[in-house]
Amino acid sequence: MTDSVKYLLAENDIPKDWYNIMADLPKPPPPVLHPGTGNPIGPDDLAPLFPMSLILQEVSQERNIEIPQPVRDVYKQWRPSPLYRARRLEKALGTPAKIYYKYEGVSPAGSHKPNTAVPQAFYNKEAGVKRITTETGAGQWGSSLAFAGALFGIDITVFMVKVSYNQKPYRRALMETYGAKCIASPSNETQYGRSLLEKDPSNMGSLGIAISEAVEVAAQRDDTKYALGSVLNHVLMHQTVIGIETMKQLEMAGDAPDILVGCTGGGSNFAGFTFPFLGSQLRGGRKVRVIAVEPAACPSLTRGQYAYDFGDTGHMTPLVKMHTLGSTFMPPGFHAGGLRYHGMAPLISHVKELGLIEARAYHQTKCFEAGVMFARAEGIVPAPEANHAVRGAIDEALKCKQEGVSRTIVFNLCGHGHFDMQAYTDYFAGKLVDQDYDEKELAMALAGLPAVKAA
Ligand SMILES: *Cc1c(COP(=O)(O)O)cnc(C)c1O
Repeated sequence: MTDSVKYLLAENDIPKDWYNIMADLPKPPPPVLHPGTGNPIGPDDLAPLFPMSLILQEVSQERNIEIPQPVRDVYKQWRPSPLYRARRLEKALGTPAKIYYKYEGVSPAGSHKPNTAVPQAFYNKEAGVKRITTETGAGQWGSSLAFAGALFGIDITVFMVKVSYNQKPYRRALMETYGAKCIASPSNETQYGRSLLEKDPSNMGSLGIAISEAVEVAAQRDDTKYALGSVLNHVLMHQTVIGIETMKQLEMAGDAPDILVGCTGGGSNFAGFTFPFLGSQLRGGRKVRVIAVEPAACPSLTRGQYAYDFGDTGHMTPLVKMHTLGSTFMPPGFHAGGLRYHGMAPLISHVKELGLIEARAYHQTKCFEAGVMFARAEGIVPAPEANHAVRGAIDEALKCKQEGVSRTIVFNLCGHGHFDMQAYTDYFAGKLVDQDYDEKELAMALAGLPAVKAA
């Protein structure tokens, strides 16, 4: 039997709770600090930016947090998402390994991002918020929040990194189709944007800059809040529906994972996929190897410093302890736009420090090579970001072949690449280059890390 196998759950199997790994950690992560005082921040410090329900989730220690029924009702449109056994890929690789993938590209926006966009819009609506501002890199997050805003009747303003705004007009068109306003960042709409454009009118933007612009606008108005598509604890938690479903589906398949692989930008799909398994391990369950794969051109987990840093380039956010390349670090251009963030989710940085996960970095051409191989075997064209997870899974499967052992490898295919076909065209034309980041620039960005009094 070489055809791929699909493991489907019933609508009733959509998780009733999100999973919060805080409850199972052997040691709590370092506190978030106020940049002015250097003291730990409290819920009230975040109130200008987020509704209190989300702030309370951000600091919650409860293991399970109930998913509101209206959110589960929206989830029903594409959840539970399928888990596949990639038998044709196994055959193409000639590996004794078993390869499974969870597919999050079935959501309306084509990635895992609506898993958190929908609850974030829901809680903002409940709090009477009229408008949400946000940033987007490749456009996946912006289009997911635009979709959620349309469902709940909230105006969405998206600051899109200018290089992507120009390169990915269809993502912008998707956001506008859902009714959102999409602005190229840096822009003239904010003080911070104007200050950057005065210095350099050709500034092509970065995620850190777009976050600063979105935060600046949200902080100015009572009816406007801000939403982040990754990095924060509550965002990672909303994504755990991925891992919770995967555990059930593997049970259906009569299997259990030896290795889990996911790609990491800010860390949300990786955390959502792996934290439920790590939680089970921390409570005495099955041990599993967990591998985070990141781009070699923006390698926060493998080359960054574990230090307190700002979440944005304009230094408007609190200080969080994370693996960072420095908030002013500008990664070279590469196609996995969703992975071009200078930092990493504090919770992922923390589990990395605790030795619970491994990390590795790959250049983009090796990732596209894996993505094309996957598409030819399984039929799904992965997003450039997801190609990092595909590469990681294929390398583990090839190692199994070399060693003549079978292992069960499960990876998260976090999105499809239908809006990224120019990247594939460039890959086939041999135009993709594997750029290294500039060591001097990294040293400079790291030298600029904020000084923090010893906690
Ligand atoms: C946004 C995005 C990412 C990166 O974000 P994470 O928070 O690390 O998951 C990866 N893949 C896809 C398809 C995305 O849209």
